[in-house]
Amino acid sequence: MRLLFLYFILIIVSCQPMPPQPSPPISKVDSAMVKQIFDEVLVNGQAYDQLRDLCFNIGPRLSGSENMVKAVDWSKKVMEDLEFDRVFTQDVLAPHWVRGKKESASVRSKIAGNFDLSVLANGNSAATPKKGITASVVQLDSPKDLEAAGEAKLKGKIVYFSRPFNQTFIHTGRMYGDAGAGRFNGAASAEKYGVVGVVIRTLSSAPNNDDTPHTGNGAASAVPTLSMSVKSALALEKALEKDQNLTITMTINSRHFDEKTPTHNVIGELKGSEFPDQYIVVGGHLDSWDVGQGAHDDGTGCVQSIEVLRALKAIGYKPRYTIRAVLFANEENGLAGGERYAELAKENNEVHLAAIESDGGGFTPRGFGMTAGIDSLMKVRSWLPLFNKNTITYINNGGGGADIGPLGREFNTPTIGLVVDSQRYFDIHHTDEDTFDKVNKRELHLGAASMASLVYLLDKHGL
Ligand SMILES: [Zn+2]
Repeated sequence: MRLLFLYFILIIVSCQPMPPQPSPPISKVDSAMVKQIFDEVLVNGQAYDQLRDLCFNIGPRLSGSENMVKAVDWSKKVMEDLEFDRVFTQDVLAPHWVRGKKESASVRSKIAGNFDLSVLANGNSAATPKKGITASVVQLDSPKDLEAAGEAKLKGKIVYFSRPFNQTFIHTGRMYGDAGAGRFNGAASAEKYGVVGVVIRTLSSAPNNDDTPHTGNGAASAVPTLSMSVKSALALEKALEKDQNLTITMTINSRHFDEKTPTHNVIGELKGSEFPDQYIVVGGHLDSWDVGQGAHDDGTGCVQSIEVLRALKAIGYKPRYTIRAVLFANEENGLAGGERYAELAKENNEVHLAAIESDGGGFTPRGFGMTAGIDSLMKVRSWLPLFNKNTITYINNGGGGADIGPLGREFNTPTIGLVVDSQRYFDIHHTDEDTFDKVNKRELHLGAASMASLVYLLDKHGL
């Protein structure tokens, strides 16, 4: 028992990053390096061109799709062509869900009229019978209202979760979290009340006339669930005011496979000179939803991560730690890539100094959010004066990313998320509109340069 205890202590000690070599505080050298990194990315950056290639020549890439296989090969080749020190993949087994033939939903009402709704099945949704499900509708704000409504009112009905985005929140991620419960667990929560279908107002910050439905994952349930555009949701609400007895017919043709699908994390490395066995990760997720092109979510995070390594190599920087660009598999409907990365890190006794993720869209960088001890946070904050005021202006306490979350939970690795101007992201997130034309080259490259600068500072000064 004692020996075992000692063994665990040794493991814990051996998993701590080496204390950084004493290094001078931020200096003119750092300032010049950050300027050089920004100049390199803004003049010679390749992220935008790579993103065009990924969006147009591959496109949407849900786990289990042919496109995801292509995206793995593509990103491996991109990093090999850039002659990173090592490029490799990690085997991942991911959940496998396919949308099937296009879903549909329509309203029938003798009083309010008949009309079609603009819809997308939510990821992981069960299928309806071929002829669809027809039922009358109970409107609730969110799943927390199911209990008060009760089984007698809900049994055999379609529940409509109508909670809109709270426009008073400045950061749109907060709107998303606040309104998201209907999609995240609406169908799973409604199941025990005998509900036959769940429809939700789509998770969108777009104006009321926007007719684009958004998809996204929800907890497993036998109850089919879909999202309808803001415009459709408002039309349904208006019709319900006139006719409480109207019906919705919804059809979803999805399929959930019992067997997991093989996929891969794709990793490129620049080898560290002093601590080759300790890692700084910069990453995004390679998979996307099956609509649009997966441009902002999260093609941008992937090409920015590749660009970080490219730019550091291009300016001749020799890192002390090994720097990894990690393109994670299966963030959208399983998180199997992030979990597998942490699992393999444990198996291989890998030590991570820090992990950075970009998964909020390729918009203008504003800051970083960091989950770490207070000393590390204060250290990173002390680097703020090195950034131009039009880029990184704050380091929030708290942040990271879904894919690097398992590293943080497993090893207490400091995790850092790039925070961008979020105002346009949830107009297009998980929709047909998440396409290359929504990405601005300079905004994308400013984000990559910000991440590369942070990687340089972490590498030079440690944490
Ligand atoms: Zn994402």
